[in-house]
Amino acid sequence: MENALWKGKRLVAYEVSKDYFTEKEIRRASHKGELCCPDPGCKSSILKYCHGEIKQPYFAHRDESDCDYVKYEKASGVFRGLRLLLCEHFSACDYPVQMEAKVLAHHYSHLYFEWEDGTKMAIELGTKRTNIHEVEKLNQEYHDNQVVPIWLVVDHSDKQLDERHTYFLKRYCLNESANKSLLILTYDGKKVVQYKRVPAVHCKTEIGDYLVESQTMFVYEGTCQDLVFENGALTLKGFEETYENLLAYRQSKAEKFRQELLERQRLAKEQEEQRKIEERNMEAYRKEKAAEQQRYLEWMKAQAAKKFAEEYTKRKDSILAMIEQQERQVRDETGIRWIRCEICGEVKEEAEFVSYGGRGRLNIGKCKSCMK
Ligand SMILES: [Zn+2]
Ligand SMILES: [Zn+2]
Repeated sequence: MENALWKGKRLVAYEVSKDYFTEKEIRRASHKGELCCPDPGCKSSILKYCHGEIKQPYFAHRDESDCDYVKYEKASGVFRGLRLLLCEHFSACDYPVQMEAKVLAHHYSHLYFEWEDGTKMAIELGTKRTNIHEVEKLNQEYHDNQVVPIWLVVDHSDKQLDERHTYFLKRYCLNESANKSLLILTYDGKKVVQYKRVPAVHCKTEIGDYLVESQTMFVYEGTCQDLVFENGALTLKGFEETYENLLAYRQSKAEKFRQELLERQRLAKEQEEQRKIEERNMEAYRKEKAAEQQRYLEWMKAQAAKKFAEEYTKRKDSILAMIEQQERQVRDETGIRWIRCEICGEVKEEAEFVSYGGRGRLNIGKCKSCMK
């Protein structure tokens, strides 16, 4: 274990070991049985200081005892090096950090912070074996003691993370931690990887909802030394800024998409307008062509009528001198017979008469106009 009490002072094993003379004094105190377990409920409270060549310095009970600290050590001894590493880093940042504080009834927090503004936080190290019962029980106890729990996952740092294919603690951090991000600390303490879900980006317009960017996972790497507190949450230095930049970039892509969509719509509308104009022009052209054709036909008809009238007059003129005699039929050069109406006096072609001919009146008749 990391801590011991000696004459009312709290000792930290690795700090004791730094200076030879300090360590010597503590070894003496240990021998005299002056070192006590910091756990107030401990039944066998006397500790010894140990520091050899293999293990890092630590305190241990002289006798096996029913001590919460011992249980805690057994359960989380594997994190001892990591706790030290983190504690040294947070101390260097001047954060008010304590290692192995007993703020809950039978539990030691891996790292504990009491900030100047009264905020209290605890860092819990967990693994894939940390189950929902453990997380919820500790969260509840922390909540009851006005302590904010922060979960840090100790695992290998495979860069890829698929939320649907991972264990509870990772998903818990992604969904329920203060900044909705997951911090993974490697077993060797060398690397910290932070993950945060990046929501899908949609472009909603009047004509539909387009997916511009799919949901993805933002991954950011750093070391223990990059761990900082920002806005009441533990994070890697630079993580939030890079994440926000990514969101802004994705949003800008959505905006660009929207602009292109609007431009395409505008062009399509313009083309449609143009097509309508052309259609109207075409229709006008067709009408004009038809009218022209009609005018031409009428002109042709008029020409034919004019020619016919001219010929009629010409043929009529050619027989006028012969119409008064009644001895011979009067025919023009084309063989058509001509008659004079006895009622209106008009000289017309044979076909325009109702009746004509007879003795002494061979070229006289009654025309259709007069007999109507
Ligand atoms: Zn004890
Ligand atoms: Zn007549």
